Formats: sequence, C-alpha cells, structure tokens
Amino acid sequence: METLTAPERSQHYLDLEDRFGAHNYHPIPVVLTRGRGSYLWDVEGKQYLDFLSAYSAVNQGHCHPKILDALETQARSLTLTSRAFYNDQLGAYEHYICNYFGYDKVLPMNTGVEAVETAVKLCRKWAYTRRGMAENKARIIVFDRNFHGRTLLAVSLSTDPSSYGQFGPFVPGFEKIPFDNEETLERAFAGGDIAGLLIEPIQGEAGVILPGDAFIQKCRRLCSEHGALFMADEIQTGLCRTGKMLACDYNDIRPDVLILGKALSGGVLPVSAVLADDEIMLSIRPGEHGSTFGGNPLACRVAVAALDVLKEEKLAENAFEMGKLFRGGLEKLKLRHGRIREVRGRGLLNAIEMDVPSDSPVAWELCLELANRGLLAKPTHGNIIRLAPPLCISNRDIEKALDILDAVLSQ
Ligand code: PLP
Repeated sequence: METLTAPERSQHYLDLEDRFGAHNYHPIPVVLTRGRGSYLWDVEGKQYLDFLSAYSAVNQGHCHPKILDALETQARSLTLTSRAFYNDQLGAYEHYICNYFGYDKVLPMNTGVEAVETAVKLCRKWAYTRRGMAENKARIIVFDRNFHGRTLLAVSLSTDPSSYGQFGPFVPGFEKIPFDNEETLERAFAGGDIAGLLIEPIQGEAGVILPGDAFIQKCRRLCSEHGALFMADEIQTGLCRTGKMLACDYNDIRPDVLILGKALSGGVLPVSAVLADDEIMLSIRPGEHGSTFGGNPLACRVAVAALDVLKEEKLAENAFEMGKLFRGGLEKLKLRHGRIREVRGRGLLNAIEMDVPSDSPVAWELCLELANRGLLAKPTHGNIIRLAPPLCISNRDIEKALDILDAVLSQ
C-alpha cells in the first residue's frame, strides 16, 4: 500500500468493492477513512464537509466521544445475550426511551426497515385481536413515493419501479394513495377495513417532500375517527433532524406508533425501535415477534448515550437555527443562478431541485464537483440533491458549504 500514490490508493479500494461487492449501490467515488463531527477525511488525506450524514444516521456528528465511550465500556462487559435471558441494560434503556418519548412500551429492533416491518405486524395483530377485524382483511394506507426500506415488505409498499421492479410477488393489504391529497385520503378511509396509516411526516428519499399542515392533521384526525393507527416513520425525520425532536411535533401530532432508527445510535450500530402504548403493544405476545440482536446490551447502552447527546447538545435547536441560515443562503443562490427550481426542507433536512428533467444526470454531476471541492452530498433523484449535515454543524461551516455550492453552480 505504501508504494501506491494517493489516487492509486483510492482506486485500489474502488476496485475491491467493484470486484467483490454486489453492485447494488452507485457511490460517489471517494474512499473515506475517518470522521469527526461534521467532517470526513478520505484515504488521500483530503477533508470534506459531510452533507449526507449517512442518510441522517449521524445526527450527533461522526465518532461522538460520549457515544464511543458507551460503546467501548459496554463492549468490554457484555455485547449480546439474545432475548432468551434478561440483561442489565435492556430494561434501563426501555425505561429511558419510553420516558423520553412518552410511550408505555418500546419494541427494540436493529435496522430501520425491521422497525417498519414490526410496526406493520403490530398494527395487523392489534386490528385482529383488539379491533376484532376479520383475519387477513386489515388494510394499511401508504403514500405514493414513500420510502420505508428495502425488504420485500418495504418494496411491496413502494411506488418506485426501481425499488419494486422484478422483485414480486408482493405483500398484499396496502392502499397506496397520493401524498398530500385530502380527497383520496377520505375515500380510502370510506372504503373500510383500514387498520392503520403509515406515513413519513416529510418524504426524505422522495426528495424532501413536505406535506401541507392540513393534510397531515387530517391523516391524524381520520385515524382517530376510524379507530385506525397513525404510524409515523420518523427513521429519517426524527431525532432532531428537522429542528424538533420529531417532525410530527411541528403539527402537535402524537403518533399511535412511532418508528425510529438511524440516529438512535448516532451512526454507531444498527439500532431501531417501535414505541406504542400498552393497548397496542401488548397485542404481540411472547414468541410472536423478535430478533436475535434486537435489544442487545451494546445497542441499549449506545442508544441511551445517543439520545442523551441530542438533548445535552441542544441539537434540535441548532438544527432549527442552522437550517434557517442554510435555506436563506440557498434561496439567495436560487435567485443568483436561476438553475435551482426549488429549495425546500425543515431544520437540517433540505433539498435543492434543479431546473432540469428528473432523469437528467445533472444532480450526479453536481455532486461529483461538490466532492471535488470538499462537500459530500448525494442525489435522491436525477435532479434533486439532499443536503443534510450532522446537526452539530456550526454557522461557519454552513457558510463554507454555501460558498462551495455557489462556486459549483457558477461553473
Ligand atoms: N424509513 C425511512 C423513512 C428511511 O429513510 C429509511 C432509510 O433510508 C428506512 C425506513 C430504512 O432504514 P434502514 O436502511 O436502516 O433499513
């Protein structure tokens, strides 16, 4: 390795992934080796501002010392027991997270998509056991352009052919309707047998799409009126990303089922969770659902530290303020360059949509040039770039990012 030049070293790692890894991703060609706070470094020693945060899993910043301390301490003591036995971390974590979000119970899982799957199973079980719906009749409302992950259940909900194409047959029992359309929402509920509704309060992967306040409030109201569960997938929007603890907080909505993941571990381990009250959660009984790693002591200790950091460092407040500053700057770039169709977002979950067709390579090319100049971001679609730095970012770094964007858009 030492004999290779810096670019040759990068190429070596690109070649390894290309040769031995499945081709299910199309990464920006930088090879990262170190991270701290809002910054990343590649194997050539180049520094970058991170404007993706591992798809919002690193809200607390890279390699947060408090979270790493928790990881290290617990790893030396006990990492995994499975749920065949009790351990001395799980109960304390469950108590902590239930108080933190105001729910009776939590069901711990690992990845985000497992938590989504858990919520859907919980909703169906609750509908049959508590609401007395006829078995196999329960239907759940989901929305066009949703993204809930990559398992067969999640792609069964998807309306994006690149997610579901040629992976069928699919899981039935879902009513797919347009996002932000009150009429079709009412019609879907009027059809009957609706056990629940699964919503991203802001559609992140679709390109940071914000629904109107009236729509999301109507979703909540119709769920209550029809005795259906309002299930919020806050895997990407939650944990201070949008400038409040949860994106639902903007509308004073309390989900019946709250789904969390990503930043629940500060990007250290896959840790996800489903929260609900007893009447819902206790409809799943022993032996009916689980996971070998879900609720492992290492994850529990790390999650408590990651949640502590969010409050101790006032990351919701910082995301709110830095988000305002950043969008203000983006709006100015939009006026100056005229190539940006729209700037949208909340807190530090933002996107720019370029004024070109959605299948154009422009967003990809811009991201390559941004990386060249030291800013890492990734397109969500051909013409949309999501911009979502760690929530600990300073205003100096926001200004720096705006300068880089300005320079790239000027080219
Ligand atoms: N739900 C939402 C809203 C997401 O953004 C994601 C991932 O991006 C998921 C679910 C899936 O999470 P994971 O990739 O951890 O399975």
